[in-house]
Amino acid sequence: MRILISHLHGDHVFGLPGMLHSLSFMGRSRELEIIGPKGIVELVTSVNRVVTLYNRFPISIREVKPGQSIKDEEYNIRVAAAQHGIPCLAYTIEEKPRAGKFDAAKARRLGVPEGPLWKQLQSGESVRVGRRRILSKLVLGPPRRGVKITYAVDTRPCASVIRLASGSDLLIHDSCFAEAAATKAREYGHSTAGEAAGVAKRSRSRTLALFHISAMYEDASPLLAEAKRVYHRSILPRDMETIPVVA
Ligand SMILES: [Zn+2]
Ligand SMILES: [Zn+2]
Repeated sequence: MRILISHLHGDHVFGLPGMLHSLSFMGRSRELEIIGPKGIVELVTSVNRVVTLYNRFPISIREVKPGQSIKDEEYNIRVAAAQHGIPCLAYTIEEKPRAGKFDAAKARRLGVPEGPLWKQLQSGESVRVGRRRILSKLVLGPPRRGVKITYAVDTRPCASVIRLASGSDLLIHDSCFAEAAATKAREYGHSTAGEAAGVAKRSRSRTLALFHISAMYEDASPLLAEAKRVYHRSILPRDMETIPVVA
């Protein structure tokens, strides 16, 4: 439903026209929202003007700034400044708190028959059974906190990302280089694996996914080892790997 773009370097946007093209040919009809820094509107509209590839579904494009947030019924997306030489955004996606766990046995004990009344209770409404009024809080546990995921790529380790990422269940952080190439990381506005781990630790994020590893590392396991020395809950995901995230 949404694509979040961090910044307008080629490796972060050249895939977008191809992806829009593929989605169109796969028969997508649903609207897609693209969110990104200043310039993203011009990029998408100018490619579309010249090539006219993806006009089969509506696209809305929105330029955002650090400090902004985008809310809908399910999620709150917050935007912060990354530190990368050109304007670059980091994003946090927070799921809104979910209703507490429904206690089916208790609902039965209270004489509420299974069916639409259960649904009402689960959504927080009270229901009537005969003359009695049953409050949803009697059958619902405490509200459950939603999942929080932070994406900070490309960036140097920085205070605004640490603040944004505070308490994330998953932090996806720039981890372009190993310690031996720390100068390069500084020069190009990237982070070493150890620096990414430092951000995970200081933001008290639960899991760190090392991301945007430089192509110069055929085997990135030394980067994982470096990160783990600083923060043991670091992982090195493969492309297209699915990572389960629970709050
Ligand atoms: Zn970049
Ligand atoms: Zn990049």
